[in-house]
Amino acid sequence: MATAIHERTRDRHLLLLTDYDGTLAELAPTPEAAVVADDVREAMERVAEAPGVTFGVVSGRRLPDVARRVGPAAQYVAGLHGLEIVGPGTAFHHYALDPVAAVIASLLARASRQLAWCPGVHLEDKTYALTCHVRQAPPDLGARALEEFEALAEPLVEANVLKLLPGAKAMELLPAVDWHKGRACEWIRGRVRVATGEPVSIVYLGDDRTDEDAFTALRDDDILVGVGERPHTHLIDWRLAGPASVGRLFARLARLRAGLPAV
Ligand SMILES: [Mg+2]
Repeated sequence: MATAIHERTRDRHLLLLTDYDGTLAELAPTPEAAVVADDVREAMERVAEAPGVTFGVVSGRRLPDVARRVGPAAQYVAGLHGLEIVGPGTAFHHYALDPVAAVIASLLARASRQLAWCPGVHLEDKTYALTCHVRQAPPDLGARALEEFEALAEPLVEANVLKLLPGAKAMELLPAVDWHKGRACEWIRGRVRVATGEPVSIVYLGDDRTDEDAFTALRDDDILVGVGERPHTHLIDWRLAGPASVGRLFARLARLRAGLPAV
């Protein structure tokens, strides 16, 4: 697989973009506990430094959070599913973010009161987005909590202020705009194209529904790698089992890009 990816991208600049949770880091009981394993980190740092490679992370987390977790290997970091992006000498902050901050703050206060009955619920305040996690709640209670969370947000969703994004044992509220990980990838590609002066192929790795936005938006000469069992069978070129396999792919790509044998 690493060899095939290398062959398809060897005479182009390689923009390697990856999701964070479930792709670079194993899923954990809480968002705080999801960290990159040492061997994956080492491979990530190596591929990020390989010739003709730009490495970036595209996550649903807030940008500062994911930037801190990934470290300097990532030249581009996109947070909130691409609504905020930083790269070398460039930044993007979607115009829809600031107007929803007050709405999110008030919703957080109400959701905290209303869902206090349910043990294990975690409300993640992302300033411009709000996620209700129920991974640590008893399953039947967690499902009910998510229903209540959804009902609380319903008027704002119907008014097209926020959109609801169901996730794995979680539900997220975001500004209702037509911007997602796929658009973020294209935005980054544009910057890398200008910076390198070369045609750019994206290799994108992701494990979840929001990554399908990237898979759908990308082009024929890009390469799409699904991670884990969930996503997008008809869209992806390859599938990897989890973050450990992602690390091995990075290590092989780093060697191939440097003109060395893969193993
Ligand atoms: Mg993920």
